[in-house]
Parts: sequence; structure tokens; C-alpha cells
Amino acid sequence: PHRVFSGMQPTHSLHLGNYLGAMVNWVKMQETHDCIYCVVDLHAITLWQDPKELRSNIRELTAAYIAGGVDPERSIIFNQSAVAAHAELAWVFNCVARMGWLNRMTQFKEKAGKDRENVSTGLFVYPNLMAADILVYRATHVPVGEDQKQHLELARNIAQKFNNDFAESIAANGFAEEFFPLPEPFITGPATRVMSLRDGTKKMSKSDPSDYSRINMTDDADAIAQKVRKARTDPEPLPSELEGLKDRAGAENLVGIYAALAGTSKEAVLAEYGGQGFAAFKPALADLAVARLAPIADEMRRLLADPAEIDALLARGADRAREIADPIMDEVKDVVGLLRPH
Ligand code: ATP
Ligand code: MG
Repeated sequence: PHRVFSGMQPTHSLHLGNYLGAMVNWVKMQETHDCIYCVVDLHAITLWQDPKELRSNIRELTAAYIAGGVDPERSIIFNQSAVAAHAELAWVFNCVARMGWLNRMTQFKEKAGKDRENVSTGLFVYPNLMAADILVYRATHVPVGEDQKQHLELARNIAQKFNNDFAESIAANGFAEEFFPLPEPFITGPATRVMSLRDGTKKMSKSDPSDYSRINMTDDADAIAQKVRKARTDPEPLPSELEGLKDRAGAENLVGIYAALAGTSKEAVLAEYGGQGFAAFKPALADLAVARLAPIADEMRRLLADPAEIDALLARGADRAREIADPIMDEVKDVVGLLRPH
């Protein structure tokens, strides 16, 4: 079967966007694919992390994967830095990708902001590491949220350029012409782009400084109710038709979140709530979010009570990941001409 790779950064806690945009699909894909789900700690340090917090965030994210429905027996769960091949292949890709390609990445522009001279070079080459994450397993299917589309495009360009630049050596070493497959993004599922509760035109993000912008997986019922109540909307009641949400980003976002959580369509939500105001809709949305998230948060807490078990699970996952990645990395070295003396 096709191999799936995806990951999340262990920075702060997971939010509804991560859950609906990525994790729900991860869980589903386990039934039909060989899946590798990574806690991408090397990506996290592109922005400075407190070491103690980073360590505990890695365990917490691992617990969130499992509590959210990723099966650690069936799928491979591990943290990125435990498998050296990611960083090794990323270096090779730093030498394949072009400055011009990376200069076009919108996420870098957003995260670097105005202080472009002062961000880490890691933040700039982040997409090269992401390409390495995927290609070091020759993964072909990458379930992500919509914001990652451009990075996936870059990963395809890197794979393509590597295959071209080294075509002769690939053939001479007896490998298939398509040495790296071109990975495909899987941007599907209930909500591919959940927006900030404070600004319906910005995506919900872990790195948003305002905690009121997002619903975290570990928020309790009170926090969720308060955040939904304060979510920026407009004074109009909900429309009964989809067209009525045009130019009402805040309202559209809440309706979309409701639909995704309830497993139904926006049309169906509007058929039920059309004509009603946010004073009625928001509490219903908060209740629904609590009903979906509370069991996951409970399970996370249960798992986190035994950090040694989480570490053991990550160690096993890293062993399984290395078994796939190391031989591919050896092939890369042979193709590039990096001597492997033995
Ligand atoms: P950061 O702000 O630090 O980049 P993030 O919220 O974007 O954090 P990531 O760890 O970068 O989280 O992304 C993990 C996964 O969640 C990716 O597949 C990403 O596309 C998806 N994702 C992130 N935010 C959203 C969102 N608002 N809606 C849908 N999917 C999202
Ligand atoms: Mg992100």
C-alpha cells in the first residue's frame, strides 16, 4: 500500500484546526495505508523553545496523537530528532533547493514578519526539512491542512530536481528512474482550514499569541464556552442559505467548525440554525466542542500520568522508522557520491 507521512510541531498544545484539518484524516488513513506520524521536534526549534517545555510538549503531543485515535501498533509514532536520517537528508536538500524557491514561501514571510534579518536560518530552510521528512520514507501521501499546500509543492520540486540532477548516478547505481516519488498532499476531511476565533481571515494557529484565537484540545468546558462566546462575529442572525455567509468570515468559520464537529454539512447546520442569533448558536457550538474534545483530553491525561511508557513507545517507533529510513539514506549517499566507508 501507499505510504503516508505527516507530522505536527510540539509547540504549545494542539488546537481544533490541527484536529479537524489533519488528525481526523490521519486516523482514517490508518485503515488503508501504512502510516508514519511524527512529532516534528526539529521543526519546533526553528523558533526558540524552552528546553524543559519542549521535552514535555513532545510527550504531550505523542499522547494527543494516541488519544485522538492514532494506533501506535498499527502506525509508527516517533519524534523526528530520534531518527538522524531526517536531518541528514535535509542537508542534502539544502543543496538541491534553490533560494528563489524558498523566497516564495508565504509561511516564512508570515512567521518572520518584519524582522527578516533576525530570524533563524532554520526557519528559512524549514520546507527542505519537511521534504526530507516525507521523502526519507519515500512516502507518497501526505495528509495536511490547506496551509501546507505550498510546502508540499516545494517537496515535489525537490524530489523532481534530485531525480534529474542525479539521473545518471541513479541509473548507474541500479535504482529506479523515479528515485524519489513525487509526494501528494491530501487536503480533505471535515475542515481543511479552520480560522482564528479572533479574526476570521487568519488561520487558527498554535503560534498565535492570543489564546482566545483558538480552542485547544486540552481546554476545559469553561474555557471553551468563554472562547466561543468571545469569538468575533457580527450582529446579524445566521442565514438559512450558504450564500448568506458571504463576507461574514467569523460567522462562516463557526458554522464550519460546528459542521465539522457534528459530521454534517454547513448547509445542514444553517437549515437547523438559520434565523437564530449567535446567543443561541454559540452555546450549542461550545457544547458540541466539549462533547467531542473532553474524552480526548481525558485520555491524554491518563496517558501522560506514565511518561516512561510514552518514552518507551517513542523509542519503539523510532526503531521502526529507522528501519525504513536508514537504507533509503544509504541509497541517497551512494547516488550523491558521499562515500560510506566500511
Ligand atoms: P504553528 O502556528 O506553530 O505553525 P500550527 O497550528 O500551524 O502551528 P502545525 O504543527 O504547524 O500547527 O501543523 C500541524 C498540522 O495541522 C498541519 O497538517 C497543518 O496543515 C494543520 N493545521 C494547522 N492549522 C490548521 C488550521 N487552522 N486548519 C486546518 N489545519 C490546520
Ligand atoms: Mg504551522
